[in-house]
Amino acid sequence: MKIISYGAAGEVTDSIHAVVLSHAHIDHSGLLPMLAKLGYRGPLYSTHATRDLCSIMLQDSAHIQKRDAEWLSRKHTMFIPPLYQPEDVSEIMRHFISVPYKLRFPLLPGVFVTFHEAGHVLGSAMVEFEYEEQGKPRRSNSSTRSKASRGASFSRATLDARACPF
Ligand SMILES: [Zn+2]
Repeated sequence: MKIISYGAAGEVTDSIHAVVLSHAHIDHSGLLPMLAKLGYRGPLYSTHATRDLCSIMLQDSAHIQKRDAEWLSRKHTMFIPPLYQPEDVSEIMRHFISVPYKLRFPLLPGVFVTFHEAGHVLGSAMVEFEYEEQGKPRRSNSSTRSKASRGASFSRATLDARACPF
């Protein structure tokens, strides 16, 4: 995810119109509650299992962060807040839209997505994007690492389209 590059809440709410999550590994999903904290209220698409795993993992992450922040605050005798709270997790979970494998669905006007089983972790998906570019139909996926799959063609969407380093 590219949350770090979005510093202010307005930038998040103004520039992200949809989120596609390929799988639940924490290096892909761990900052999703930050989107809710910064005001994102748009859709977040994943497979059913990825949504279910995220509901457990992100709440656990919030509790671990709370304990770590309390420990760091005591150690440095200053208040150090956690990145996000359990309520931020609850908020982002309300925006998940889970979609079965092999179902082509509209992401944004002119952009369609299909999840294909990736065999990486429970619920993981290779994300296939279909769209038009300069009047020509295009297709790319999260494993090609093509210019388009990195989001260059989708200025209105945040696409979790990078290949996982495992
Ligand atoms: Zn992974």
